[in-house]
Amino acid sequence: MHASFEQLLEVQTLDTTLAQLAHTRSEIPARRQLADLQAELDEIDKQKANVQAERDAVARVQKRHEDEVATLEAKLDKINGDLYGGSITSPKEAQTLQEEIASIRRHQSTIEDKVIEQMELAEPLDAQLDEFSSKAETVQAGIGKAEAELAHAETEIDTEVDAVTTDRSVRAADVPPDVLAAYERARNEFGSSAVVVLEGSNCKGCPLAMPAMEVDRAKKAPADQMHSCEECGRLVVK
Ligand SMILES: [Zn+2]
Repeated sequence: MHASFEQLLEVQTLDTTLAQLAHTRSEIPARRQLADLQAELDEIDKQKANVQAERDAVARVQKRHEDEVATLEAKLDKINGDLYGGSITSPKEAQTLQEEIASIRRHQSTIEDKVIEQMELAEPLDAQLDEFSSKAETVQAGIGKAEAELAHAETEIDTEVDAVTTDRSVRAADVPPDVLAAYERARNEFGSSAVVVLEGSNCKGCPLAMPAMEVDRAKKAPADQMHSCEECGRLVVK
């Protein structure tokens, strides 16, 4: 066989290897695993955000009650100041203030109960949020591991791809440009068997028998001339 055809067959083999490597790269198990873990994390984040919204609502109500308690306490301080500041002289006036203090304290107690209610509502929500955080942390760790595995596997494949690509370009340089162009066109159609070797009286890739005249023509042609099989269209070298 002519040396340039031998190189062309090598180019074809290397192209097949490159296609396999590209497939292997896209099917690295860690890639799938990473996508699954990312989806899992997104789901956890979504659920956590819902609970967080509930928790925030509870906190807002609690804050409102606490603010009210603070207002009542300020009021009490003011009344106590008046009561014990020495400005009150009439017992009647003092009694009125005492009653007011008692009334405010009752109201304050009611509001404080409401604060406690909200704190009780917050407790299971906080527990859920903690649980989501710890779940997310575990999944994050898995993502980190899968990312490292994926990067490692990709680097290994990329190194191989680089070596094969270099080898291919060295060999392709020995193939006449028109032959290489014809091969590349045929490759789109026939994939890994774009160029085949004439074997006996048949094109190796031909689903049907090669016509005798065609075989004869191919056999008699100069060694550096390439044929297209009239039956299947593949490029034939001998
Ligand atoms: Zn054929």
